[in-house]
Amino acid sequence: MSDDAAPLGPLRQVILQATSFCNLDCTYCYLPDRATRNLMSDAVVAALGQRLRDCGLLADELEVRWHAGEPLTAPVAFYRRACRELSAALADRVALRFSVQTNATPISDAWCELFAEFDFDVGVSIDGPASIHDAYRRTRRGSGTHARAMAGIERLRAAGHPFSTISVVTDATLCRQDEFIAFLEDLRPASIGLNPEETEGHHRSGLLQQVDFRDRYTEFLRAMWRLEARTGIPVREFSRVRVALRSGMLPVRNVQIEPLCLLNVDVAGNMSTYSPELLGWKDATFDDYIFGNALDPAVSLSTWPPGFSRLAEEIERGRTLCRDRCPYFKLCGGGAAANKWAENGTFASAETGACRLNTMAVVDVVLAELEAGSRR
Ligand code: SF4
Repeated sequence: MSDDAAPLGPLRQVILQATSFCNLDCTYCYLPDRATRNLMSDAVVAALGQRLRDCGLLADELEVRWHAGEPLTAPVAFYRRACRELSAALADRVALRFSVQTNATPISDAWCELFAEFDFDVGVSIDGPASIHDAYRRTRRGSGTHARAMAGIERLRAAGHPFSTISVVTDATLCRQDEFIAFLEDLRPASIGLNPEETEGHHRSGLLQQVDFRDRYTEFLRAMWRLEARTGIPVREFSRVRVALRSGMLPVRNVQIEPLCLLNVDVAGNMSTYSPELLGWKDATFDDYIFGNALDPAVSLSTWPPGFSRLAEEIERGRTLCRDRCPYFKLCGGGAAANKWAENGTFASAETGACRLNTMAVVDVVLAELEAGSRR
């Protein structure tokens, strides 16, 4: 890396792909290998535990998140071995937390036992009621999956295990916003996350192609603010802005644009950083966004091959553009590398349609509502 590059770490989150396979085939999915059945080896988990232990970049807390494919299509026994291995390697170095993002359809009592044993934070991907969810979240045969997701959620509830939700917000969500909000109010998750449909990989966001998408999304966020006030269920996007404002530690750190705050590891042990979506994309200019493999003893987390150093420099140029030009930078930290590439064709860029929704619209709503609240 060049001398003026952003510093490495601290490492706060590791995203592990136990399998790239997914049992669903959602229309907006960007994962290229979601039809491939595979499983991370125990050797990769063990090597990774040692690499993390020795890296010198760990923050005080480390979230190990199983994601990128449907994690629960891998065996329960794999996770039991992996969580034990990672706990043995890291628990005396860092406050370790396990989490999983799942479509909930495979959840059984055996999964609930594993979640309880390792105190998993469980995130469920659900896009609202069946009228919205089933328009996008389908099987390979085209069937809706809402009923199966709700059956999984009922198993979590029966086991007394809390869950959060993340919903992809599409044009259908905005058109049926009252149904979406009523569904979440009834579901009562521990928290709500909103992911506006993005342009990624081969997928072009239908939401971002609407001429008035930012205004409509802002209106939707105002309704979500009222839901949060009414129910006390925190909305992740609002919480992030409030926490940043209260902490006064600005600009915020952004794991998607700063090197090695986030480590992504695919099923074969290949390691990347920045936006998780990059791992799986192919581009020889940037060494396919991979800086090494956990199984390779010669690889260091801080010594990167030429392609990855080029990537780091280009992403840093984009972060500098954000810092110099954008009034939202202090509460954003520079956006998401994957969105910049997918929408602008270069990492050395600033504004995207995604950041107009994920950051600008969210910050506008939070500041306006906090101001209105203090006037009241
Ligand atoms: S809101 Fe967009 S343009 Fe502004 S800092 Fe974030 S990514 Fe950059």
